[in-house]
Amino acid sequence: MGGKPRVAFFDFACCEGCQLTVLGLGEPLIELLEHVEVVTWREAMSEKSEEFEVAVVEGSITRDSDVPRLKRIREQASTLIALGSCATLGGPHVSANRLDQSDLLTMVYGDRAREFEAGEVRPLSAEVQVDIPIYGCPINADEFVSVMKHVLLGRPYRVPNQAVCHECKLNQYECVYDRRQICLGPVTRCGCDAICTSRGHRCFGCRGLVDDPNLNAAREVLEEHGYRVEDILSVFELYATWARPEEGLGIVEPRAAVKSRKGSEPWRFRSSI
Ligand code: SF4
Ligand code: SF4
Ligand code: SF4
Repeated sequence: MGGKPRVAFFDFACCEGCQLTVLGLGEPLIELLEHVEVVTWREAMSEKSEEFEVAVVEGSITRDSDVPRLKRIREQASTLIALGSCATLGGPHVSANRLDQSDLLTMVYGDRAREFEAGEVRPLSAEVQVDIPIYGCPINADEFVSVMKHVLLGRPYRVPNQAVCHECKLNQYECVYDRRQICLGPVTRCGCDAICTSRGHRCFGCRGLVDDPNLNAAREVLEEHGYRVEDILSVFELYATWARPEEGLGIVEPRAAVKSRKGSEPWRFRSSI
């Protein structure tokens, strides 16, 4: 059996901004579509299929009733990519975990609260194995293309695992601490090319904590401005209240990218994208 690998997009609780980022890719998306067959993508097409090898899943799990659906996707997919901070970390709505669930439902739905289900907000990895996490709120479009290339070529993808300060300093952006703003760059995972600090904004930690923060370097940046690492870790609430990324996600093997459809020949690609 030959054919292009089949890719399906799914979403759980999210704003769908990461899928929109993929849709807005333009030419790289058109090139990608020469190498894959997209079989399900609610945001972009009406066709659907249960047969796919690569699942791109956006959004976090917020209801127990989401879990069987996610598990079915996991069972079918050879490679499961978690798309964006909702899928990888829980997303901004993970802050709902700080509130009492029934109070929250009443606040939103009033008298009809009992008709709705809500549970702890959690990333996909709380329920299933994630093969490749793509961090960011929204994702970095270039990183999505790079991940897909790795999957298609059957190569392991190395998840960026340095602090945003690294990219910020490489680009010689002005440090926002010099303008007396707190920035989470010293402990946040890079991979966004320090896009926020490039525009004079602080990093608010949307890619989550770096696996192993270089505390000495972080301390140096912070101490220069009268802060401690603990000060910024304690305000790291918007995206990282669920948990630190799991050990071992730094380098991920697209499990079946080279194995192709079950029992068939490895996928063959005309060229790299
Ligand atoms: S990570 Fe951000 S942009 Fe992406 S779906 Fe979640 S809230 Fe939206
Ligand atoms: S603290 Fe923020 S602004 Fe300063 S170097 Fe690090 S990422 Fe850049
Ligand atoms: S600079 Fe920080 S907040 Fe901005 S995109 Fe990068 S990780 Fe996210």
